[in-house]
Amino acid sequence: MEDTTKAGMLPAPTIASLSEILPAEPLLMMGAGPVPIPELVANANRNVINHLGATMSRIISQVKEMSQYVFQTSSPWILGVAGPGSAAMEMAIANLVTRNTKVLCVCNGYFSHRMAEMCQRLGANIEILQSPEKGQVDLDRFVAAMDRFEPDCITIVQGETSNTTFNRQLPQLTSAARKRACITIVDAVCTLSTMPLQMDDWGIDAVITGGQKGLSSIPGVSLVAFSENAWDRIQSRAWTPAHWCLDAKLAENFWHKGSYHYTAPVSGVLALHEALRLICLEGLQARFQRHERCSRALQKGVQAMGLKLFIPEESRLNSVIGIEAPQAVSNRDICATMSEKYQVEISGSFGLPLVRIGQMGEQCRAQNLFRTLHAFGCTMRDLGVTVDIPRGMGELESSLIHSEPG
Ligand SMILES: *Cc1c(COP(=O)(O)O)cnc(C)c1O
Repeated sequence: MEDTTKAGMLPAPTIASLSEILPAEPLLMMGAGPVPIPELVANANRNVINHLGATMSRIISQVKEMSQYVFQTSSPWILGVAGPGSAAMEMAIANLVTRNTKVLCVCNGYFSHRMAEMCQRLGANIEILQSPEKGQVDLDRFVAAMDRFEPDCITIVQGETSNTTFNRQLPQLTSAARKRACITIVDAVCTLSTMPLQMDDWGIDAVITGGQKGLSSIPGVSLVAFSENAWDRIQSRAWTPAHWCLDAKLAENFWHKGSYHYTAPVSGVLALHEALRLICLEGLQARFQRHERCSRALQKGVQAMGLKLFIPEESRLNSVIGIEAPQAVSNRDICATMSEKYQVEISGSFGLPLVRIGQMGEQCRAQNLFRTLHAFGCTMRDLGVTVDIPRGMGELESSLIHSEPG
C-alpha cells in the first residue's frame, strides 16, 4: 500500500487483527479469574447507552437493590466503581482511612497484604496480624491484638485467592471488632455470592467485590457497600481523600443522585446488572449449594487422581482450589500445557508451588468440571507425573451424584 503519511507524522503501525491473535475456539477460563460469563451478560455488555438520564437511573437503582440482596445489607450505600476489584478496595480504604488512622490489617496472603499496603500509602498507623502459614486467623489472637492495639479499623479478606485459605471465622472476627466500635473492611472479591456473607448480621462496615469472579460478570466494574455507620463517618469526616475518582461523596452524585461524577462504564454496568439479576433468579442459597457441591466434587476428584490439595480442610477455600505442584514439575509448565494442548486456562500462584482452579460463578457447572479435571489429569500425565485419571473422573462423578440437590 502507498504510504500516505504526511511529512512529520508517525506512520500507522501494521497490526494483527484479533482473529489472528485469539484462539479459534475460546479457552475455558478455569483460573482464579476472570471467569466465563453467561450469554445474557455478554449480550448486555454489547450496548452503549447514555450514562445519565431516566434509563440509566432505573438500571442503577436496580443494581443497588440487587446488590443489597447479594451483600445481605439493608444499607442503601452501594456504590459502583469503574475499575478492578482493587479499585473498590482502594475506594473503601481511602474513604475510611487517613493519616494516622490505626488499622489492624489481618493478612493471610497477597491480596490481604494489598489492603495493608494501601493503608500504609495513606499514612495510616498499621499493624499486621499475620495468619499462620496455610491457616486462618485465630479468634483469640485477633481479640488480643484488638485489645492491645485498639485500632479504629480492620481490613480482612474472606477468601485469600492467592494461597486459597479461607477465614472461616470471619463472622466472629467482624463481630468482635464491631463490639469495640472498630470499622471493618472486608475483601469479598472472590467469595461474594459463592458462599454466605451477611454484611449486616456480621457487623461489617464495608464489603468490596469485583465483577470477574464470584459474580461472573466482566472485569472492570466493581462494587463497594458501606454500612450506615461507615457512611455517617464518611459524611462527617473533616478531611478529603486525595483521590478524586475514588471519593465516595463524589461517587454519591452518580450512584444516588442521578447526576455526574465521571462517565460511568455503561456497558460494564449493564453486564453487572445482568449478572446480579441471574444471581437473584438462582437465589443465594441455591447458588451457595451449587458452589459447595461443585468445588468439593472437584477437590475429591483431584485427590482421587493422587494429587494433594495445598491447604488443610479446616482452612480451605472452596471458591478457588489450590493444588500442590508435584516436585518435578513447575506450575508454569502445568498451566502452559493445559492451555496449549487442552484449551483450558488455569492459574499458577505468586511464587508458591501450586496451581489454582477457580470455582466461581459459571466455573461451577458439571460440564466444566469434567473437562477441566480430565485436561488436568492428562496434563500431569504428559508431564510425567503418575496420576490415576479414571479414578479421579469416577470420584468426580460419584461425588456430584451423591450431593445432588433434593
Ligand atoms: C482478584 C482479587 C483481588 C483483586 O481484584 P482485581 O480485580 O484483580 O483488582 C482482590 N482480592 C481478592 C480476594 C481477589 O481474589
